[in-house]
Amino acid sequence: MIPVKAVVLAAGLGTRLRPISDRMPKCLAPIAGRPLLQYWLDLLGDAAVRDLLINVHTFPGLLDGFVARQSGGGCRRVIQAYEPRLLGSAGTIMAHPRYADDTELILIIYADNLSDIDIAALLQYHRSHDDPVTMVLFRASDPRASGIAVLDGDRRIVEFTEKPANPKSDLANAGVYVVDAEAYREIAGMKAFDLGFDVLPRFVGRMRGWLWSGYHRDVGTREAYEQAQLDAERLLAARCVQPGERQPGVFLDRDGTLIEQVHYLGDPGYVRVLPGVCRALNRFRKAGYRCVAVTNQSAIGRGLITVDQFNAVNEAMYRQLAAEGAVLDGLYHCPDVPESADPTVVETPERKPGPGMLFRAAHELQLDISRSWVIGDMISDALAGYNAGCAGAVLLTRDGPPEEPDAGLSEAKLPETSVFTATDISAAAETIVTPTEAPSVARYAPIEAPNTPAGARTVSS
Ligand SMILES: [Mg+2]
Repeated sequence: MIPVKAVVLAAGLGTRLRPISDRMPKCLAPIAGRPLLQYWLDLLGDAAVRDLLINVHTFPGLLDGFVARQSGGGCRRVIQAYEPRLLGSAGTIMAHPRYADDTELILIIYADNLSDIDIAALLQYHRSHDDPVTMVLFRASDPRASGIAVLDGDRRIVEFTEKPANPKSDLANAGVYVVDAEAYREIAGMKAFDLGFDVLPRFVGRMRGWLWSGYHRDVGTREAYEQAQLDAERLLAARCVQPGERQPGVFLDRDGTLIEQVHYLGDPGYVRVLPGVCRALNRFRKAGYRCVAVTNQSAIGRGLITVDQFNAVNEAMYRQLAAEGAVLDGLYHCPDVPESADPTVVETPERKPGPGMLFRAAHELQLDISRSWVIGDMISDALAGYNAGCAGAVLLTRDGPPEEPDAGLSEAKLPETSVFTATDISAAAETIVTPTEAPSVARYAPIEAPNTPAGARTVSS
């Protein structure tokens, strides 16, 4: 499946949101402690959408900073389109006519709304019919203030009127669309300004409506914005996120943990996501964790693979994950070449067991290190979590326990970080998401996976 891309329309002036919009672009207005745009990035992440084009008009520098932090080391690819002159919703598409050339589907989203829309379900619906556009609808309390659609029995939109004086339904345009690449190019060629007024009426009869009955609110006015602060607490609670608190992360080693171990992997053809990984990532996500890969890649430093090859491998992994509805929030790598063969020695801050990549990810993605975990198949992975001050680490021991389980763990610092072993990632997820009381001196507390082969050895402390 070719990855879906998104156009996020975020350039509105936000004049009704003053004085907040005097200090920042409206899309960064904080709602329950996080920028409005963050909610959209989370929803897009849920549907494994990694390619975004975001337009901006006021305070482009502030959006720069936000986007740079949210890219997760390049895991998310964001194009920022600065519009010194407002182009209009259709004008932004006209300005990027080639954006759909390498995809089949484009999501177009007005970032002015706070929503909990299920984007994966929306994409599934769009794929189930053969019209080129799907418009998300919600039931409006005041249809005269919205774009109103009338549907036939097949949910095809047979009438669409922007702000009708005499509305024929209460099914309002939610400002979220899925369009086929061909329809995107058609819109770009219309040389229009506004989607609602100029473009959508031309798709009447070849566009379906998809009703979202969850939460959806325009936060364009001060009153709506204040209400959204309260509503957002419920939306965040559903994601296991506390308002105003940083989320914890799960830092995952890549080779041997997310994908099959292949020495000096530079060929995307050899990428195999390991069993249970997608399910585990989704479990973490639902439990309020962000999932970040951290990978030592001395093969780059040694000149054995190029950064382009490394990126191609990651891309293959992202695609396999996305095919099963899973996604990473970030991926950080370290090309440093070690001098010693001892995996417990911190040689450079970034190379595991150094904590540098974890710190960088935590800084950029605003993670709470003290509640974060590490999962990896090497002692250096567990130690990186230990050195970063994570809550815990799980060492995967598919081939039995490590030879020297205590190597590198200083007695003096225990038990700030509990290190467990697990035979696979599903068992690791079980430990992290449903923690039992941490054993007081526990290191390498064995965790029996449901599918532990008979006779598998585990080390007890
Ligand atoms: Mg590994």
